Amino acid sequence: MSEYSSPPGRTAGASEQLSLDAIADAEPYPYWLESAEVPESNPTLVRDEHCDLCIVGGGYTGLWTAITAKERDPERDVVVIDKGEVGGAASGRNGGFMESSLTHGVGNGMDRHADEIDILEELGLRNLNEIEAAIERYGIDCDYERNGVIDVATTSHPPSYLDGLREEHDLLRSLDQKVEWLDCEQMRAEVDSPTYTGGLFRTSRAALVDPAKLAWELKRVAEELGVRIYEHTKATDIDKDGSGVAIRTPLGTVRCSKAVLGTNADKPLLKRIRQYMVPVYDYCMVTEPLSDEQLGRIGWARRQGLSDITNQFHYYRLTADNRILWGGYDAIYYWGSNVSIEQESRPETWATLSRHFFETFPQLDDITFTHAWGGAIDTSTRFSVFFGTAMSDRVAYAVGYTGLGVAATRFAATTMLDLLAGRKSIATKTDFVQSKPLPFPPEPFRFIGIQATRWSLDHEDKTGKRNTWLRTLDRLGLGFDS
Ligand SMILES: Cc1cc2nc3c(=O)[nH]c(=O)nc-3n(C[C@H](O)[C@H](O)[C@H](O)COP(=O)(O)OP(=O)(O)OC[C@H]3O[C@@H](n4cnc5c(N)ncnc54)[C@H](O)[C@@H]3O)c2cc1C
Repeated sequence: MSEYSSPPGRTAGASEQLSLDAIADAEPYPYWLESAEVPESNPTLVRDEHCDLCIVGGGYTGLWTAITAKERDPERDVVVIDKGEVGGAASGRNGGFMESSLTHGVGNGMDRHADEIDILEELGLRNLNEIEAAIERYGIDCDYERNGVIDVATTSHPPSYLDGLREEHDLLRSLDQKVEWLDCEQMRAEVDSPTYTGGLFRTSRAALVDPAKLAWELKRVAEELGVRIYEHTKATDIDKDGSGVAIRTPLGTVRCSKAVLGTNADKPLLKRIRQYMVPVYDYCMVTEPLSDEQLGRIGWARRQGLSDITNQFHYYRLTADNRILWGGYDAIYYWGSNVSIEQESRPETWATLSRHFFETFPQLDDITFTHAWGGAIDTSTRFSVFFGTAMSDRVAYAVGYTGLGVAATRFAATTMLDLLAGRKSIATKTDFVQSKPLPFPPEPFRFIGIQATRWSLDHEDKTGKRNTWLRTLDRLGLGFDS
């Protein structure tokens, strides 16, 4: 099999320079967050607060929890606190792929939750449909497009990956899902890259959104429903307080009956969660807007989201103004589960991404990138969100989305509210909600293990061979993904 290669007619050195020149002027900042519609920031909490439900984290998890809590009981007094600004973390800077899968893809779902995959796929689809209904109901302006996604195989993949994609196609058909198999020619008729060898078009279970607009609009809806939101208010400690919970922040304490933690890749407030989640950095970039003529060179009339099928995969899509967002591939873990703003910038990853972009679309060699950024995702060893309660069911948490949380966060919100209310639902009865992933080992084994796994995944992407280390992890049910 071939590794990525230089486009015909250009030397490797010239290709390398072209891809570097293309990122030279890129703003190291999330494209989505630069919009003119950035909302005013909210006050910091500077006195003690009392409420029925306090939510820590103003990303999609926290905002959907706040909105759903108010929808279920408009009298419920709900407060959200965020250490930064709403949408400033993963929810405002992601790729905007809103997929129905709760299990990071049906293949991973089958591997880990085969007995209930039908139910999880059904709950996932229902969740996506309910998000779509909420977008309509509240007039949420987030450039929502339900165009489906294509998983694409390329000449840089081992041939066995194409066979694996066909198997996934058959599996999805057996689950009665709407999918189309695209051979090389049909794939290139959808989106034209000389590297494509085939694709699996999942037509109905995925949408695209502008992620930051979605976060900001959810903030608007939550406030219209009466939720109080404090920004630049970091929860530093959580503890039982009489029959409720006290959440301490630098300048005030929130006393509440129940609390929800939706803090994603940041250091969890509850120690018990720390072993199950590691923060991993994912990077992406957007091009300048393509002219009609430039877009015509690649087609893409149906505007699907695209993702290739290697362990280290790229995801890419069009924005509302016809830029290409191109991200993924590297998934970087920093020693000690470190999360910091410096790690949002990684020029060497942007250079790799740029090279891969021009290898995929050599006909777009007159395009440059305007923005490049990164963000932390909360990886779990099962690649999907896990749940729990603490402090005698007064606190619920959901983390571990592993890079597929744009839709799953709403499912997590409704599930956490069910858990806090002691309400038995189809979701809370599943093993998926009741079980935990296997823990990550402590440092230094954590760092060494993740590096060994990344090396092995890269090796498999190049050779098609799964080595002993990966097979051992498979047997243990451990994994690493983004
Ligand atoms: C580059 C990138 C691309 C991605 N692409 C996709 C994609 O295309 N599709 C997809 O499904 N998923 C994608 N994801 C993942 C997706 O963005 C997340 O799963 C989702 O946004 C998680 O939402 P959240 O609310 O749980 O977390 P976040 O949006 O991270 O929100 C958590 C909030 O908690 C706050 N917080 C943390 N600790 C505290 C504290 N102690 N006190 C107060 N506040 C605190 C943070 O400030 C933050 O605002 C991507 C992620 C990244 C980084």
